[in-house]
Amino acid sequence: MIYDGPAPADSNVPRTGGVPLAPAGFAWPVCGCGGPLQFFAHLPAEGAVLSVFVCQNNPGACEFWEATSSASRVYLFPQEGLLPVAVPEAGVTLLPATSAIRTHIVTIDPEEADDDGIEPDAYDLARSGWKREPEDRFGKQREVLGSLGGSPSYLEDDRLPVCPSCTATMEFAAHLEEGMSAETAMNLGGQLGYVFVCRACREGSFLTG
Ligand SMILES: [Zn+2]
Ligand SMILES: [Zn+2]
Repeated sequence: MIYDGPAPADSNVPRTGGVPLAPAGFAWPVCGCGGPLQFFAHLPAEGAVLSVFVCQNNPGACEFWEATSSASRVYLFPQEGLLPVAVPEAGVTLLPATSAIRTHIVTIDPEEADDDGIEPDAYDLARSGWKREPEDRFGKQREVLGSLGGSPSYLEDDRLPVCPSCTATMEFAAHLEEGMSAETAMNLGGQLGYVFVCRACREGSFLTG
């Protein structure tokens, strides 16, 4: 997923920031600290929408890095019938800017970067290779806002979340990066965000690592 400039705050397109879209009657999620979560991202998910919220009221105190914490929430909504949600008046609820996301398909040849016989990390290769010129080490990595599908980058198996409803291991859906600049950035504590879903139960989960 690549940064694609500013977007309207309530557009039904892949984006970070702006106002969440949800089915009628949706209640803005609240963290265990008592504050509202901040809306991070509206992501495509095979005919559905993933809506990601993370608490930013007490950065460092609310444990958004843990999948089981109340400091993050991921919803899997149907694509149709979504409406802009009324924003709570108090608390850290919205990002300063709305950023459109475009997707760019990357196919990794596992033979290509295999220096030491270690299987390459597909996301890491894709991210570091974005617009990289032959003399660059990293390319334009800040433009990369994450990825959809594939497998979670360098995540220990024991951190894979289980569905709170059916207790099966959840399916990996997306990586989220902090973003381009202080203006557009989501605060992930300098880490990578991971979004998981259980499609059968319409549950979602978020953690960082
Ligand atoms: Zn909190
Ligand atoms: Zn489930």
